[in-house]
Amino acid sequence: MDTILFLAHTEADGSLCRAALESLGAARALAAALPDSRLIAGLVGADVRTAADGIAGCGAARFLGVSGAPFAQSRYCTDVEAAAAIGRASGATLVIAPATSRWNRALAGAAHRLGGRIDAHATAISAADGSPAVTRWYYRQRLEAVVCRRIRPWFILLDPGCAQPWAGLPGTATIEPVDASPAAASRTTVIGVRSPSADLQTIRPDAKLLFVAGAGWTKTQPDGNAHGREAEELILDFLRSTQASLGSTKSLVDLTGEGQPVLGFMTHMNQVGQTGSTPRHAKGLATCCHGEEPHTVGWRFVTERRAVNLNPNCGWAQGKADVLYVADAFAVMREVNALLHARLEAPKPAS
Ligand SMILES: Cc1cc2nc3c(=O)[nH]c(=O)nc-3n(C[C@H](O)[C@H](O)[C@H](O)COP(=O)(O)OP(=O)(O)OC[C@H]3O[C@@H](n4cnc5c(N)ncnc54)[C@H](O)[C@@H]3O)c2cc1C
Repeated sequence: MDTILFLAHTEADGSLCRAALESLGAARALAAALPDSRLIAGLVGADVRTAADGIAGCGAARFLGVSGAPFAQSRYCTDVEAAAAIGRASGATLVIAPATSRWNRALAGAAHRLGGRIDAHATAISAADGSPAVTRWYYRQRLEAVVCRRIRPWFILLDPGCAQPWAGLPGTATIEPVDASPAAASRTTVIGVRSPSADLQTIRPDAKLLFVAGAGWTKTQPDGNAHGREAEELILDFLRSTQASLGSTKSLVDLTGEGQPVLGFMTHMNQVGQTGSTPRHAKGLATCCHGEEPHTVGWRFVTERRAVNLNPNCGWAQGKADVLYVADAFAVMREVNALLHARLEAPKPAS
């Protein structure tokens, strides 16, 4: 009989993030598919009451919680203690957790402490023939494999955007407190968090839209000049209005990395493609971008794809985009930004 542990940490407000609810949805589906299995919820945070009550109706047989101030923040030594303690207390054979940056850092250590194994970047969890299996991609998202393991506990980090989030009625959960040694906290003191300001934070995994900028933004335009400054303004203006996430081609971030005065807000973290990331936004808009890698690899999980390019024979035209606008991206984005401003500034209808 499998014991399936859904393991999550709370957010600053005590709630669970969307990726955690997706993992809960996957854990429930797995429990339903595995005969005689049971589902347990394990939560870590300063106070896990809000989170536990929020998922009280998820069908978990037990709610285990590690709580207290040391567990409020992401810190390897306390997170690994908490996850291992809940793993032990639950007797879990399978641990399903969201691939948040916090869990990505800590859960390999917890799996090791429990003598188990871990697989990261899972995109699906199934139980076709009565035993659990994990789907994940290899070789920069070119090969898809289904992985089974005999060793338990088996920790599985599920990538965000791959499962339906659990949505059910809240209630009042009976939480069983689990002791995890907060003494480990004294080894590392968190003195603060440094992150870019909201305007500079351009990578937004939860955004509906991915906006990809290519090297064309920095190239000489039909008037004989490059317009890097205007490109920056147009892109940032669009991101501010839409809160879209910003992706880039390799050519463009390589230029930026060479210190050229173009698109200074781009870093290699923005790059999508074979040697970049493969985000999972519902919609994508590529501008001034020709390259094969960003299209075939970087965009393979983007559901609806559109592109703006001056060249009707660009890589996008070869069947990679749902819609290709053969147009000047400067002119298009100027117009799009004006329409967005008009919409944002329009008076709201009285309710
Ligand atoms: C091993 C390997 C791994 C790689 N990995 C990646 C990767 O992960 N990600 C990645 O992106 N690349 C990757 N590349 C590079 C990739 O092959 C391409 O060279 C790169 O993506 C091209 O970038 P681009 O489309 O921005 O630039 P370009 O190929 O220079 O295209 C610029 C485009 O902008 C258009 N344009 C110019 N001005 C305008 C305008 N005013 N309006 C509209 N369109 C305009 C042009 O028509 C052109 O199509 C990799 C290459 C190798 C060899």
